[in-house]
Amino acid sequence: TAILSLRGVTKSYGSGDLQVQALRGIDLDVPEGDFLAITGPSGSGKSTLMHILGCLDVPTTGSYELAGVDVSQMSESDLAHVRNREIGFVFQQFNLLQSQSALRNVELPMVYAGMARAERQDRAAEALERVGLGDRLDHKPTQLSGGQQQRVSVARALVTNPTMILADEPTGNLDSVATTDVLELFHALHDQGRTVVVITHEADVAASAAHAVRIRDGRLSHEAAGV
Ligand code: ADP
Ligand code: ADP
Repeated sequence: TAILSLRGVTKSYGSGDLQVQALRGIDLDVPEGDFLAITGPSGSGKSTLMHILGCLDVPTTGSYELAGVDVSQMSESDLAHVRNREIGFVFQQFNLLQSQSALRNVELPMVYAGMARAERQDRAAEALERVGLGDRLDHKPTQLSGGQQQRVSVARALVTNPTMILADEPTGNLDSVATTDVLELFHALHDQGRTVVVITHEADVAASAAHAVRIRDGRLSHEAAGV
């Protein structure tokens, strides 16, 4: 069954002569447990689609069902709840707090969820172990390599046990060794049955996913599968 289902999704910015149609009718089904790459050139609509998939924004028209719930007309506050419950974000810039340890960074989503300290620390340590950083709990981001920092942010995304991991250009700041490292981590998550969606302009990253779709001028075309 599809965990994400988009039908006729459009997104326009501005109005009148200045209106931009960023998405022009997106149909997409992502089965539970898929590892999907969404690729496309600059300006094609990737960020706009990522914002809709991540419940950071809603479509202008069309429907979006996430885990069986239509989120396309939700209020900002309802959308925020869905976002916190269902989606683990991974960003290009890692978005880690520089003054805080890896453990503390991974604890943060659970602080917001109001969980007790001891349980937070246990779960954060376990998530860091799962991404291979069990021996780096007390390190700060500056004491970690780029690939390790991205692993911390993947642990942070996982720790709330979200419906999907949504990664926006996750290897955009990484060298090729660290890129391979992070892609291997996504493969491991996929093998464990996680749903992983990666937005990327890098063809080799797209090729390593289980499936890839390409966006161009706000429309999707389906590509041959990778591995
Ligand atoms: P990509 O992430 O693939 O570079 P975007 O989704 O950022 O593409 O942009 C798609 C189109 O929408 C582009 O023409 C872009 O200029 C336009 N666009 C994106 N965000 C806005 C905005 N907030 N206001 C107006 N136009 C926008
Ligand atoms: P990148 O590092 O790939 O450039 P950004 O940090 O710019 O990604 O984030 C991409 C988008 O997601 C931005 O529009 C930003 O406002 C939004 N965003 C970033 N972090 C969060 C968050 N924790 N919760 C909700 N939205 C976020």
